[in-house]
Amino acid sequence: MLYQRSSALFKDAQEYIPGGVNSPVRAFKSVGGTPIFIKKAEGAYIYDEDGRAYVDYINSWGPMIIGHTDPRVLNATVEQMKNGFSFGTPTELETEIAKLITSVVPNIDMVRMVNSGTEACMSAIRLARGYTNRDKIVKFEGCYHGHSDSFLIKAGSGAATFGNPNSPGVTQGTAKDTLLAEYNNLEDVKALFEQNKDEIAAIIVEPIAGNMGCIVPEKGFLEGLRQICDANGALLIFDEVMTGFRQAMGGSQERLNINADIVTFGKVIGGGFPVGAFAARREIMNHLAPLGPVYQAGTLSGNPIAMRAGITTLNIINNDRELFNRIDNATETLDNEISKIFTEKGIPNHINRLGSMMSVFFTEQTEIKNFTDVKKCNHERFNKFFHHLLTNEVYIAPSGYETWFISDAIKDTEINKTLDAVRSFEG
Ligand SMILES: *Cc1c(COP(=O)(O)O)cnc(C)c1O
Repeated sequence: MLYQRSSALFKDAQEYIPGGVNSPVRAFKSVGGTPIFIKKAEGAYIYDEDGRAYVDYINSWGPMIIGHTDPRVLNATVEQMKNGFSFGTPTELETEIAKLITSVVPNIDMVRMVNSGTEACMSAIRLARGYTNRDKIVKFEGCYHGHSDSFLIKAGSGAATFGNPNSPGVTQGTAKDTLLAEYNNLEDVKALFEQNKDEIAAIIVEPIAGNMGCIVPEKGFLEGLRQICDANGALLIFDEVMTGFRQAMGGSQERLNINADIVTFGKVIGGGFPVGAFAARREIMNHLAPLGPVYQAGTLSGNPIAMRAGITTLNIINNDRELFNRIDNATETLDNEISKIFTEKGIPNHINRLGSMMSVFFTEQTEIKNFTDVKKCNHERFNKFFHHLLTNEVYIAPSGYETWFISDAIKDTEINKTLDAVRSFEG
């Protein structure tokens, strides 16, 4: 049996951890079967408890953009650890990472570090509400901004996979302040602003969506959101938890040449450690405690070891200007070759890609531009595809509502291994 030890470990885990996992998508509920338990990772590969090595296209859901266990990050964090684990006081490291982030990300002057993408997004909307003195926010169906109450309304991947788009436990009072629009549909957004005049604090959006599979913003969509916000005194929040330091050093703002008012980060920013951040211009960040009245805090925020991992990772990326080209090109090769293979086999498919994010959809549809389109895809076939790749030691996200994350450790050898696995998929 391929997954003997994983199966035993999963059985044990389920006794003590709800569903055996600490984040739902890991349980393989959407694709079936039992999750594989990972023991270690290096470069392009993760190794399971049964000794199998997989080419990793999850990369911890994005953070491991330079590959796993990079020796430079490893050494820097081990050295840092020798000075202590956590102080709960200011450290020089926090200014260092804030300087680095503000120097590469457009349109921000100040940064506040937190411990997760969820915290970053939750704090960003509190700040937007405090700044505008308004209560409502607009979010898009299929976009995920973490699991805080305001966002668990049609929240994409995790929630969609489990069939409860509106989680119990979120009160009606909270839900009524979250207005929903369709991704890539400006008319929807305009209508919401007309119906809720002077009540909307902010639009929050994944500028390149990755939590309903990879969905690329259509030409004019983000520009339209910018205009609507400006015309209505609302703030535009780019959730760059996934896209930040991945689509470009300055994230989607740089890649797509458009400015947001508040930007949130996570994933790559911590180099694999639990880090998030939100950032904005000074006049907005001035509203945050202790400067202003909008409260936000964290015992472990700016943790020195996590900061050292983040700084080291971000510097590696920033000092290697070819990195984004390399991962984008690797992703382009995968996209072109996979769609060629499927087209030759007569398997209807559509691949969305931007930069180093991509999703393979099994569908006759010629474009996939919102959550409704994704739902119409053949998810049964995706699940078979997932298990086929897994059997062939290629590990993609276990749901048809997720994106692939390509790391810089993925080279020709790994791409060829992946394409061989795709070739032997019977559909
Ligand atoms: C992952 C993700 C989050 C949540 O981040 P966590 O660190 O899991 O809390 C928020 N927004 C986007 C776009 C994400 O991809």
